Amino acid sequence: MADVLTPEQRSRCMAAIKGRNTKPELAVRRMVHAMGYRFRLHRKDLPGKPDLVFPRLGKVIFVHGCFWHMHTCRYGKVKPKTNAAFWQAKREGNRARDRRHVRDLRREGWEVLTVWECQLRDPEKLERKLRTFLRK
Ligand SMILES: [Zn+2]
Repeated sequence: MADVLTPEQRSRCMAAIKGRNTKPELAVRRMVHAMGYRFRLHRKDLPGKPDLVFPRLGKVIFVHGCFWHMHTCRYGKVKPKTNAAFWQAKREGNRARDRRHVRDLRREGWEVLTVWECQLRDPEKLERKLRTFLRK
């Protein structure tokens, strides 16, 4: 971690790395909750501890930051200027792990939706996507 971060930035950064209770995740929770769905959080017995779990529906949702999880959008393609090799390895590790988790969950019969941070820029579209996923 670069030493140029303030403690607050660092803690946000660590939250992003651990991927729990991040701002995008809270936004998705609020959205799904407002639709009337109830869910569990970060169930530790499931591969990847999905952010939102709908046990009776057999569905889970991950909320991923574009940078950390290497989304194909422009935010996911940003290349850090310092410690480039370190961050690259870290992010590729995340991406590989994400894929493994999705595969394992599907094998166990779960339906999986990944929501990307950048999708929150168009909340109406994201809401339609969430409704479709949860309803089907
Ligand atoms: Zn993205």
